[in-house]
Amino acid sequence: MRLSHLFTKTQRNYPKDEISKNAQLLIRGGFIYKEMAGVYDLLPLGLRVVKKIMNIVRKEMDEIGGQEVSMTALQNKSLWEKTGRWSDKEVNIWFKSHLKDSKEIGLSWSHEEPMTRMIKQFLSSYADLPIYVYQFQTKFRNELRSKSGILRGREFLMKDLYSFNATEEKLDEFYEKVKGAYFKIFKKVGLKDKTFLTFASGGAFSKYSHEFQTICEVGEDIIYLDEEKKIAVNKEIYSPRILKELELREKKLKKLRAIEVGNIFKLGTRYSKALNLTYINKKGEEKLVVMGSYGIGIGRLMGTVVELFSDEKGIIWPLSISPYLVHLIVLKGGDKKLFERSEKIYNTLTQLKVEVLYDDREKSPGEKLKDADLIGLPIRLIISDKTGEKIEWKERNKENTILLTPDEVIKRIKLYEKNSNSYLG
Ligand code: ATP
Ligand code: MG
Repeated sequence: MRLSHLFTKTQRNYPKDEISKNAQLLIRGGFIYKEMAGVYDLLPLGLRVVKKIMNIVRKEMDEIGGQEVSMTALQNKSLWEKTGRWSDKEVNIWFKSHLKDSKEIGLSWSHEEPMTRMIKQFLSSYADLPIYVYQFQTKFRNELRSKSGILRGREFLMKDLYSFNATEEKLDEFYEKVKGAYFKIFKKVGLKDKTFLTFASGGAFSKYSHEFQTICEVGEDIIYLDEEKKIAVNKEIYSPRILKELELREKKLKKLRAIEVGNIFKLGTRYSKALNLTYINKKGEEKLVVMGSYGIGIGRLMGTVVELFSDEKGIIWPLSISPYLVHLIVLKGGDKKLFERSEKIYNTLTQLKVEVLYDDREKSPGEKLKDADLIGLPIRLIISDKTGEKIEWKERNKENTILLTPDEVIKRIKLYEKNSNSYLG
């Protein structure tokens, strides 16, 4: 992609109405555009990041047997009344609207009800189970606070998976599989070392739910972490009783701020009962389906990465979700030969399927270098009259630069990809 062609431009100044680092950097870099508090558009660079995160999540969901669907945002009132979740007393973040005939409708904030009802049509016997269905879908929540940038949106993209099993034992087995898949996902996006399984409140069916909390100063949650056991307890349920149950010692726990990047929940028969989702077992008896739900905030994940991987100059993307791998800069100052060389390298890399953002604009060196740091791609390549026939290589998270021939650059890119992939899993 040529920067001269990209319609977005970077911004030097901090957007005054944003206090969160993630939104500030993403807006300045041209990844997102702010419509209003808690509501952001994805621009070309931001959309590439989100798509990469989605592909990582999709692969792991498919691996554990998930089938992808896409459900609607408009929601049926009478369906939600059946589970008692239409009322604003039960759910205080609904966005609601009216049809022309004044019938009320809701905008999706979650999908347990429509998902359960949809499955009803396709499920009759034990042989139809298990069923695992997921989607990437826009959720609308009328959140009270919206000061955390894309960490807490009023409209945001969520991956939500729902499981339908015949028995509690089968649910338990699948629940453990999801835990594994989630850790793989957080490893791949670079958050492995900072993300911990956290016990949280469970609801009527199970004692606890589990959150995946990423340690970060701007997180809205507070957790108590046992670093050796690698488990944490959310402050919301923290008590001497739970410490005893989990065999945690108060002295060993660290109180930390964290971001909830995902959570998993055993729903049991709460929704199957309310919406009468049953199957016929081997003995010919009618049984309630046992359910679970599993969320990941896709936008929140992107925001978390920006919060954790950035410096005073800009973002530092992990390779796995970086919009492009290489930021190629030609500092040409009108020199035709330099320009021809950089065009050649751009074309060669593109043919080799290396993702390159190519700064071919007529801009000062200072501006170009600042933009590269702000956008934050893993590898920066510079061609200038100072580099001679060679190319200057610099990695975003390192200080040193080296001069390489075009062939060496290609080899080194391959090596870089290999090393990063082995680190990120
Ligand atoms: P929170 O406790 O942060 O309000 P939640 O417990 O309501 O979130 P769920 O309804 O289970 O979260 O949603 C699943 C996932 O979606 C969360 O783990 C989080 O990563 C993400 N998420 C929830 N609310 C938002 C939001 N307002 N903006 C962005 N992501 C969100
Ligand atoms: Mg929560």
